[in-house]
Amino acid sequence: MKSKIQHKMFQEIRNKEIFKQSHQYSFEYLENIFDRNVYPTEEAVKNLSIFNEKLPTDSTNAKSVIEQLNKYGSPATTATLGGRYFGFVTGSAIPVGLAAKNLGTYWDQAPAMKVLSPIGSKLESVVEKWLVDLFSLPQNTSAGFVSGTSTANLCGLAAARYRILQRNNWDINEKGLRNSPKIRIVTGKQSHSTVLKAIGILGLGTENIEWVNVDNQGRIIPDLIPELDENTILILQAGNVNSGAFDNFEIICKKANKANAWIHIDGAFGLWAEAVNELKYLTKGIGNATSWAVDGHKTLNTPYDCGIILCSDQEAMTSALHMAGSYIIESTERDGMFYTPEMSRRARIIELWSIMKYLGKNGIDEMILTMNRRAKQFAEEIEKIEGFHVENDIVFNQVIVKCDSDKITKQVLSNIQMLRECWLGGSMWLGKKVMRVSICSWATTENDISKSVKSFKKALKLANR
Ligand SMILES: *Cc1c(COP(=O)(O)O)cnc(C)c1O
Repeated sequence: MKSKIQHKMFQEIRNKEIFKQSHQYSFEYLENIFDRNVYPTEEAVKNLSIFNEKLPTDSTNAKSVIEQLNKYGSPATTATLGGRYFGFVTGSAIPVGLAAKNLGTYWDQAPAMKVLSPIGSKLESVVEKWLVDLFSLPQNTSAGFVSGTSTANLCGLAAARYRILQRNNWDINEKGLRNSPKIRIVTGKQSHSTVLKAIGILGLGTENIEWVNVDNQGRIIPDLIPELDENTILILQAGNVNSGAFDNFEIICKKANKANAWIHIDGAFGLWAEAVNELKYLTKGIGNATSWAVDGHKTLNTPYDCGIILCSDQEAMTSALHMAGSYIIESTERDGMFYTPEMSRRARIIELWSIMKYLGKNGIDEMILTMNRRAKQFAEEIEKIEGFHVENDIVFNQVIVKCDSDKITKQVLSNIQMLRECWLGGSMWLGKKVMRVSICSWATTENDISKSVKSFKKALKLANR
């Protein structure tokens, strides 16, 4: 005997209708995303009030659930998949990754243990090796596949905390932080907010940070780094969220290695420079760090959510993230949960593997170099327009633009957002309001850049009226 709801759900699979329907909507969405308004219209956002309802008492018709999502949800999305979304450092999604994610959705695998998902475990092992080679990291480096760089930073710093305290005969897992030996933290004044968040969550306290001054691109000034020691975590950055600048890893790591400090690199989007022949001068020396945090969902354009923690001290990493239980079945191969904070998590490795296999080394190189070229194109075109100023060296994919005054910059940014031909956000840079243009979509063409520059011009004209 099946229950009523069981019967209904078996029926959904048998008649396939909702699946066909959702695929159809997906294709339509994808086809239109490149020409659509980049930000949803006011009306589309207003219409979201349809979702303000009480939890239905009775089961809803499945078709109408999918229909509601498509009718009201699709128009209220931001077109981050297209070529003219330059907000934050967002990244599009490569078609084969979407297709693989779709298949993976139906597999619904949790790669916590090999016995839970042999395919998930296999792909994680394979991609771990690919990434270690691509980033030229030490051969003993392990990877954990997490939701993003926020979590990857947390894992890297947790491993650092474990190792430094363990060297002082202090087991953090057993003894906790109360009365523990002191851990020093040294980082640049442009460290990402998620690094500070991780320091907070780990109980290390942002007040204890020894801040290092940065230059006009946001890079740590190596000479200003204090004396380091083996109780220090030094946090560096590959890709500043505003300027895209890289710390000087070669010089800094040499100094830190001598002192036996733990070096963590936040390379959310910038670590990928190492995979590009023409740009790998930016990441020279990263192999001398101890842990690295990087995203798939930014520069590599995997779908959300996909971050990776890489760590050459496997024992510290797995000890920091350890868990045990009488029902756990460990294998001699990879059990993903020892490399991440979670036990169950989705098998994001499916998309990551698919995209790396699809692009290959040369495809990755070409895609990222093209983003760099488009960023340079944007800077060149916008500089030609009177009233716009580029504020950074274009080394990777970020362009910082400002107008003649904070007031105009603010108005122009608001006009650009209102025009919806492209989308970007603002920031503060060297004490001034600026606009941040982040080029990190595989789909951004020369034409997209020119069209966006035109929108900037229009927005300035409107502001000056
Ligand atoms: C985006 C970003 C992060 C946070 O990564 P998420 O994937 O959003 O969690 C951390 N550091 C830098 C430099 C970033 O650009």
